[in-house]
Amino acid sequence: MIVLKTKSELSLMRIAGRISAQALEIAGQMVRPGITTAQIDREINKFIISQGATPSFLGYCGFPASACISLNDTVIHGIPGGRLIKEGDIVSIDVGAFYKGYHGDNAATFPAGKISPAAQALMDATRQSLYKGIDAARIGNRVGDISSAVQVHVERLGYSAVRKYVGHGVGKEMHESPEVPNFGRKGSGPRLAAGMTLAIEPMINQGGHEVKVLPDGWTVLTADGKLSAHFEQTVLITEGGPIILTEL
Ligand code: MG
Repeated sequence: MIVLKTKSELSLMRIAGRISAQALEIAGQMVRPGITTAQIDREINKFIISQGATPSFLGYCGFPASACISLNDTVIHGIPGGRLIKEGDIVSIDVGAFYKGYHGDNAATFPAGKISPAAQALMDATRQSLYKGIDAARIGNRVGDISSAVQVHVERLGYSAVRKYVGHGVGKEMHESPEVPNFGRKGSGPRLAAGMTLAIEPMINQGGHEVKVLPDGWTVLTADGKLSAHFEQTVLITEGGPIILTEL
């Protein structure tokens, strides 16, 4: 069932979204060569708690940290730890905040120092595909219109959209209906309606769309070892068009 949020629920989701966005901004400003992913995670945790919220990911299905921090060929679900970020790495950070019963969810990929033109191009394409998807998140459209907008944009540039993991509804639960794939056919899937809140999150690979999971059960890597980037916003569908809840 797809939950349509009421006005009072949306006012809480706006706060959860703002806290998530601020946490992501703080994390992004910390990304540089020589810092560990655990140091970034610690600051995210501190910030979210200081806002009277809790980190959505901490303890979710046993996830041991407040954010997923995924480097280079790690697509998603990287576990923060002692790994040092190096010059030229691309660092995807996914973070959510849970405030008075509602989640916000957002992600972005950040450069560490000077990165290769190829890495920059992948990041740019992934960010652009997110906004193509958001622009398709309009009444009269279906979920497949979002999916198709993302897929068409990245495939035209020679990249591929991950298929095994998808975006999702978000609200009281971090993962709600509907699924929001980053590939699919225009005009397919559930109809979009006012009050839906969706986490739109292209995970885009430089090479093939195939992925593999490390034995830790979390870390998702590209199967071919090439780079991956990830951008995400929590988006509210309204009569007047999409509104991003995780924007500062
Ligand atoms: Mg998400």
